[in-house]
Amino acid sequence: MRIIEKMRDEFSSPIKQQVAARAGHRCSNPACRAQTAGPQIVDNGTINVGVAAHISAAAAGGPRYDPTLSPEQRSDISNAIWLCQNCAKLVDNDPQYYTIEVLRLWKSLAEAVARTEVGKTLAPRPIEVREKEGERYALTRRAELAERVLANFHEARDIIMAARSPHLFTGEGETRPKAAGESQGRTRRLNGYYAVAERLAKRQDFFSKFAAQRYPVVAIFGSESAKGFDELFRIMNEINIAVRLLVEMDGPFDYLPSSERQNLEAKIGWWTALDGDAISIRLDQIIGNVEKVFRPAIQATPLL
Ligand SMILES: [Zn+2]
Repeated sequence: MRIIEKMRDEFSSPIKQQVAARAGHRCSNPACRAQTAGPQIVDNGTINVGVAAHISAAAAGGPRYDPTLSPEQRSDISNAIWLCQNCAKLVDNDPQYYTIEVLRLWKSLAEAVARTEVGKTLAPRPIEVREKEGERYALTRRAELAERVLANFHEARDIIMAARSPHLFTGEGETRPKAAGESQGRTRRLNGYYAVAERLAKRQDFFSKFAAQRYPVVAIFGSESAKGFDELFRIMNEINIAVRLLVEMDGPFDYLPSSERQNLEAKIGWWTALDGDAISIRLDQIIGNVEKVFRPAIQATPLL
């Protein structure tokens, strides 16, 4: 038990107090803003229902854990956000939705509001002002998400196009289980096919994070925005299936009619039809469509 505790990069007491004070002792979730400190009935004590929560988890396996951070960075005030106990639980239960970017945005907004409240009376701000703040937050959240998603679509296209190359680097394709008595030429050809799937599999981390964005994106941008995701992952699937068929159907009897081999090789970028590379054309169409869906949301970013 002690060893496990030691491996968590906790915040020091001074940092906890600082992060609470910087948020005005209120929960930083803009939809909550609960007061987190108050008096105890007896003994002049205080009650605290706030926590200095980790933006990126204190220990491996925790929500939003970033292995590239050092223990110092992980227990630094820049990695802390002040939340009420309810909201701390909420953000840890759904880290896909409450991402690092979202929590950073909450923190900067909470601190900005707390700054404007220092030394001010408790007279309620007019309803118009509060509505404006809510609107501004919603727009910023949309813009941030749109920007990340759009960047990911561009990156996904680049990864897929780069994976579809007949050029083989040393060692590529060698994770393929070899058949007995393969000729050298056949080994080279099959490893070449296999390398395409290997290169995509290498970026599985990227693609699974990207796929996880589909849910919040559809929640915010509507079901139309799911089409780009679906088409992109359909293309990935077609490429992986083409690799499998090319490898499995290759043999001494050559089961594949040459037109079918051409179709499959076209999927993996080894053969190009006269009317162009269909996969590349479809990827460009996806990019064109997602640009139309997400670019306007980015440009609508209000100044904070
Ligand atoms: Zn809260």
